[in-house]
Amino acid sequence: MSNQDTESLKLFREETRQWLVENCPPGARGEGEIPWGSQKIELQPDTALWLERMADKGWTVPTWPRQYGGADLARAEYMVLLEEMGRIGARSPLTGRGVNYIGPTVLEFGTDEQKAKWLPRFARGEGGWCMGYSEPTAGSDLASLQLRATDAGDYYRLNGMKTWTSDGLYGDWIFCLVRTDPDLPKHEGISLILVNMDQPGVRVRPIRLISGSSPFCETFFEDALADKEDLIGGFNQGWNVGKRLLQYERSVHAGVNTSGTKGQDTEVSLVDVTRQYQQGNERRIIDPGVRDRLLGLEMDSRAYQLTQQRVIAETQARAPALATSILKVTGARLTKEKADLHQQAMGTYGLGWEGESFSSDELAVTRTWLSSRAVSIYGGTSEIQMNIIAKRVLGLPD
Ligand SMILES: Cc1cc2nc3c(=O)[nH]c(=O)nc-3n(C[C@H](O)[C@H](O)[C@H](O)COP(=O)(O)OP(=O)(O)OC[C@H]3O[C@@H](n4cnc5c(N)ncnc54)[C@H](O)[C@@H]3O)c2cc1C
Repeated sequence: MSNQDTESLKLFREETRQWLVENCPPGARGEGEIPWGSQKIELQPDTALWLERMADKGWTVPTWPRQYGGADLARAEYMVLLEEMGRIGARSPLTGRGVNYIGPTVLEFGTDEQKAKWLPRFARGEGGWCMGYSEPTAGSDLASLQLRATDAGDYYRLNGMKTWTSDGLYGDWIFCLVRTDPDLPKHEGISLILVNMDQPGVRVRPIRLISGSSPFCETFFEDALADKEDLIGGFNQGWNVGKRLLQYERSVHAGVNTSGTKGQDTEVSLVDVTRQYQQGNERRIIDPGVRDRLLGLEMDSRAYQLTQQRVIAETQARAPALATSILKVTGARLTKEKADLHQQAMGTYGLGWEGESFSSDELAVTRTWLSSRAVSIYGGTSEIQMNIIAKRVLGLPD
């Protein structure tokens, strides 16, 4: 138990520990599936039971208000809950864009009616959410987006397309930035709206990658309808709302989110990996270059973790704002460096694509190394984060 626990926190820890031991099914411990709400993916019985029990307790979104499916936990209690889950290897009961991206955005910008309608659904993992931001001509320059929403009585009619829609094949809903007024300056004619993907006007086409898998899709909107009541944060106010959602996204990538859910840190020790594959006399890593890089990475990673903790401690709102850009750039660099070193430390064992001469762990390293290239692209590229830091943190001229 931490020395800093107050009496009430101690009690909370004891009760939490006991409840988790009694209620976390064996199949929800250790590595395994974590639901993200998709109604198109059938869950293992223990995963489904764990989700249901945690949702009943308000612990799928522990810091949200009780009336919206949360448990009103203070940040210190939330950290205790995470520590206690980690102690027994309990997996996160729910993750994804519902609880982590659009959920906190609705909590911050939604009307009372929108909060009452949507937040309990996010909290129970009812519906897998996709993100409709990027378009073929709007990536870093997101405000150039063209997906058009026109007035159709109680609805908006949507025409256009989005691209790089992660999990598009399994999504039930998509939150979209749409153009509601093409005559205004480009940042001012945008709104954020929730769209049901299970309707004839929404078509999803997988983008096939060189690996053979299709984690992203193109999403086409052909007279698709979105309920006017589901426009979040006000008509033509989507730029500010959409940027805040990006901060929620980045705070998840940076490991500093205090809203929604947070996974456990299951990082491998690169020192152990390097010793295993490059063992010299007395278990000393032979290559001095690798030793230097390992030490440098270890120091940077620890400094990063301390900064994460400081940002969480200093944050008064539900998620940090501009600090997310700083952490995103640094986190992306460290993730890529770690993946590079992991792969290189293993020599040819870190280059397997398929075949029996490689273990499944070794094959996974190659894929992790390749997919790590994406971390400096999604959620806004590193160059764009540096632009934000230059303008909004350092106050440099455009
Ligand atoms: C794994 C993954 C998942 C994704 N999932 C989704 C999703 O679910 N939904 C969604 O909407 N999008 C998603 N994206 C798309 C992602 O948001 C965009 O790829 C990203 O914003 C960059 O846009 P772009 O690909 O059009 O690149 P571009 O904007 O064309 O950029 C190309 C290069 O130019 C640089 N550049 C551009 N403008 C500037 C500038 N002003 N200053 C300096 N450098 C600049 C960029 O940094 C980049 O290196 C995903 C991307 C990846 C990799």
